[in-house]
Amino acid sequence: MPDCPYTLPGATGDWEVVVGLEVHAQVASKAKLFSGASAEYGAAPNSHVSLVDAAMPGMLPVINKFCVEQAIRTGLGLKAQINLWSRFDRKNYFYPDLPQGYQISQFKDPIVGEGEIVVELDDGETITVGIERLHLEQDAGKSIHDLDPKATYVDLNRSGVALMEIVSKPDLRSPQQAAAYVRKLRSIVRYLGTCDGNMAQGSMRADVNVSVCRPGAYEKYKAKGDFSHLGTRCEIKNVNSQRFVALAVEVEARRQIAILEDGGRIDQETRLLDTVKGETRSMRSKEEAHDYRYFPDPDLLPLEFEQAWVDEIKKTLPELPDEKRKRFVAELGLSDYDAGVLTADKERADFFEAVADGRDPKLAANWVSQELFGALNKADKDLSDSPVSTAQLGKLIDLIGDDTISGKIAKDVFAKMFETGDDPAAIVEREGLTQITDTGAIEAIIDALIADNPKQVEQVKEKPKALGWFVGQVMQQTQGKANPGAVNKLLKEKLGL
Ligand code: MN
Repeated sequence: MPDCPYTLPGATGDWEVVVGLEVHAQVASKAKLFSGASAEYGAAPNSHVSLVDAAMPGMLPVINKFCVEQAIRTGLGLKAQINLWSRFDRKNYFYPDLPQGYQISQFKDPIVGEGEIVVELDDGETITVGIERLHLEQDAGKSIHDLDPKATYVDLNRSGVALMEIVSKPDLRSPQQAAAYVRKLRSIVRYLGTCDGNMAQGSMRADVNVSVCRPGAYEKYKAKGDFSHLGTRCEIKNVNSQRFVALAVEVEARRQIAILEDGGRIDQETRLLDTVKGETRSMRSKEEAHDYRYFPDPDLLPLEFEQAWVDEIKKTLPELPDEKRKRFVAELGLSDYDAGVLTADKERADFFEAVADGRDPKLAANWVSQELFGALNKADKDLSDSPVSTAQLGKLIDLIGDDTISGKIAKDVFAKMFETGDDPAAIVEREGLTQITDTGAIEAIIDALIADNPKQVEQVKEKPKALGWFVGQVMQQTQGKANPGAVNKLLKEKLGL
């Protein structure tokens, strides 16, 4: 185990942080978990509410098989234990946006058990983070407080939407690790297609559990596999970006340290992150499991399926980021760094693979990760809004490959493609950028250069490095269009080098 990457000094000594995450990932499903109502985002308030979602008396939930399948897919993607027998429980609490008065969730017997994911950190290191469990549960509705000065409205569109709650072990030891974990988890569910990972729309949100301890304490409890006596933790609810996850860990750790250094104690509670002020504030005291009076939902049979179904689903899993990255290195000869950049997101990997199809993969990797990603970054655009398509970038690479343009000219052509969305061939044609490979034309320029510059000819014969001056002259006279290979070859011939 490496040293803790994040130590906070205090007047009474150093502190470390221990973080576990509960991520709620909305299942990419058309219908809700226990009703046929649409799960689509952004519809008019209360337009996607069935009688089940509104908890009308006597209504019965019916499990959505597709959602169960997505939970299994996700479990397989997390290299986790799939439980062939699981059960739904009622988690009882009163909230205006929860018409049933309870949430149907899974408590003791979740559909997915322990797994793990490998997380790449910004410095190139990797850590393995344990997954405790994944369970299926319903989302609640939404209270709306800002439409009326006195009344609170409720929108039940989200009520009953299927969520996968993915619980990590408390294996994260810094703000950066917590953010990187969310990034990787998001990447995996997006590869699997089981959640769209849209954090801004709330289809993925993290509850961040933070506690602090003295150096050495974490390792001691980790060895025992029991963290119950580690520092009291607080849970920061519904954090909706990777950056805010890191911020939540940092500011909450500092708050707890200040209290402990002052001789106080941490109350176990649920807190909210104020991203503007950069602080967390108390929301409510944290309930214990027994406060929820969990019991098996009598309206639903236990969830039971065959291993054969799990095996069928396993066969349909796509290549996941870790495997894709390894393949890009082993089979395509990319550097581990480039492979990491290109596989971090499914969309990027798909884009690269389309460009590289039938072409030199290293050249394609360069154009995608350096030129295109660089330009998108500068323009603050997503890959989905790229003005350059995979086909266009592929054609540009082909124009270099067949000597129509040089690599240097290609960069100018690319800049124009990015600006206008035009085809590379059209730009080359329009601007007369075709490379001069006609040796006769190049020869004529070289002959004139040699005749006009006897001094430089003397110099280059003594110091062949001075050849660069001649190359530069030819390039200048041809506006960079002369084929560099041909120029070098002809110059050496004519100068007798
Ligand atoms: Mn939950």
